[in-house]
This record gives sequence, structure tokens and C-alpha cells, in this order.
Amino acid sequence: MLIFKKVADLQAWVKQERAGGRSIGFAPTMGALHDGHMELIRLSHRDGHRTVASIFVNPTQFNDPKDLEKYPRMPEKDLLLLHDTGCDAVFMPSVEEVYPPGSDVTISLDFRQLDEVMEGVFRPGHFIGMATVVNRLLDIVLPQSLYMGQKDFQQLTIVRDMIRQLNLPIELVMCPTVRESDGLAMSSRNMRLSPEMRAVAPVIYQTLQWASGQMRARTASEIQAEAMQKLQEAGLQPEYFDIVDGISLKPVERWEEGEFIVVCTAAFAGDVRLIDNLVMKQ
Ligand code: AMP
Repeated sequence: MLIFKKVADLQAWVKQERAGGRSIGFAPTMGALHDGHMELIRLSHRDGHRTVASIFVNPTQFNDPKDLEKYPRMPEKDLLLLHDTGCDAVFMPSVEEVYPPGSDVTISLDFRQLDEVMEGVFRPGHFIGMATVVNRLLDIVLPQSLYMGQKDFQQLTIVRDMIRQLNLPIELVMCPTVRESDGLAMSSRNMRLSPEMRAVAPVIYQTLQWASGQMRARTASEIQAEAMQKLQEAGLQPEYFDIVDGISLKPVERWEEGEFIVVCTAAFAGDVRLIDNLVMKQ
């Protein structure tokens, strides 16, 4: 497995691979890797690509500096995991390599409110930072296919919109959420959960499943209100529990309206903020 720290070195390798007729599959990550990330690598392999993963804790997508500081970093363990999963190349750039001093790579796209709901309400500026880094990394890696997790559903929706707006020749592949045996979505943040909160955290997925089972029997707002209460009663602090159209992210009022309906939630388990979602209808 090759490890690149410089843009120019990675680009030279990508150029060589493409000249040899090979396609590139790309999985951007922020490290502290787990089996959910490995699923992106496995799917890229399945699709026959040379697979590149990036590990870059992007400072511009953290609205809370403490969150950035506390973000787990374990590069040696990450590299072992990537190697064992058969990743071909890893890009681990410095902040200066991604954001060269003196040049502004910030994108200015209008996401038509996709970035203003759910996560956008609680993490202002997060999605412009995320879209900027993904766009910059795509520009460097030039993949044919981009692998992202359903776990970050709003992120994936915004990246899909960015690819469409910029007319990028890239296929976006949505990878299903990998979960622990008790249903908790795998996340780099889970390792920060106290034993008590780790025991409570699976209630998030249970509540999403409960909500999905209530479809049609109740209105979306009834389900939403009761789900918020269930999360609170379990000892979590929910921020939102929204039932939305899977493309526009607009609230769903009537079940028969949407082809693709997703329920998304964010909740604090102690001081760890967790997100999860479930497709209700597709
Ligand atoms: P992160 O390192 O948390 O920024 O995530 C990098 C990529 O891995 C994103 O596309 C995530 O959606 C994806 N990912 C994170 N957790 C999971 C999971 N449990 N299952 C599938 N994909 C995931």
C-alpha cells in the first residue's frame, strides 16, 4: 500500500494508473477508522477500482474548536486496517497541502437549503467546509467513483448536489451503514462514549426502527414528537428527529407524497454527538 503526503506525488501515481487503463475509486475519511470505513474500501474494490483513501481531519468543517481538538487521531492503526483491507493508496496530507497559504479554495455553491436543515441548523458552516474539502480532494484524486456512507446522509445528499452543479464526471456510490451487533452505527466518536452512554446509545437506532414501523399509522409530526420523547427518556439529548424527502431533504407531510423517505436524527449521548438515519420508503 502506497502512502502519499504530497499532492504532486499522489497525482503522479494517479496519472500513471489511469494511463495504464485503471480506474480510481476514492473514499475520503477523517481517520480513526472502523469497519464502516472499510466497507467503502471493499465496495470500491468490488467495482474493480484502484482504491484511494484519504485521512484528513478537515479543520474547516468543525464549527466547535473543541470538537476538532477532541477528534481521535490514530494514524498507525488506520494504516494497518487499510492495508489489511487491500487499499491501494492512502493520501495523508498536511493542512497546508490541502489549503495552500494564499489561495482560497472555498466553493461558493447554493445548495438550495439542503445545508440549512437538520445538521445545518446545529452545525452552521459545517457543510460549506465539508463540500470545499471534498471538492478539493476530488480535484486532486480525480476518481471515477466516490464512495460515501449513508450514515452521513445529509453530507452525501449535498455532495450529490455539488457533483450535479459542477458537472463533475464522477459516480457517487452510497454505502450502507455498518452497525455494531446492538445496532449502534459505527462511528469514530463511539470510542469517546462512557460505558453508561455506550449502553444507552443503541436506543437511537431502535427509535429509528420504531419510527419506520409507525409509518402510515401516524402523521410524521406525531412520530417525530414521540421519538424525541423516547430518546430523552432513555437519557439522550436529541437535537432533531426529522422525516424528510431523501433528495430535497424537505419535511414529509404526507406518506404518499414521497418516493424516497428517510428519517434522520442527531442526539447527544453525554458529551458525544451521534447521528444516524434509516430509509423508511424507497
Ligand atoms: P468520517 O471519517 O467520519 O468523515 O467518514 C468518512 C466516510 O465514512 C463518510 O463517507 C462516512 O459516511 C463513512 N462512514 C462513517 N461511518 C460509517 C458507517 N458506520 N457505515 C458506513 N459508512 C460510514
